[in-house]
Amino acid sequence: MQGNSIMHTSCGECGGQVPEQAEICPDCGYPVAALPLSEFRPQFTTSLEHALMLALGIAVTTVGVLALLAKSPLGASLAIPIGVGCALSALLGLWRNLREN
Ligand SMILES: [Zn+2]
Repeated sequence: MQGNSIMHTSCGECGGQVPEQAEICPDCGYPVAALPLSEFRPQFTTSLEHALMLALGIAVTTVGVLALLAKSPLGASLAIPIGVGCALSALLGLWRNLREN
């Protein structure tokens, strides 16, 4: 309980001194307070964008299968993993959204 100096922390954005109680940096406005994890969720986790990503994944996978049928193993080996990965991560995102709502 000694000392009346304000505790400071440094801004992660500009490196300036920020009072520990402050939620944003007085210099650049960067949020320095620890935000709940949900605040950091990126913008692209909406169901619509997951659905678009799923459609893209299916389309790319289809292209890969067509490439395979056209005896183009190089194209298939590129398109199928990308397409399946895209579709699976989109499905995972949709599933997460469903669990949260
Ligand atoms: Zn700053």
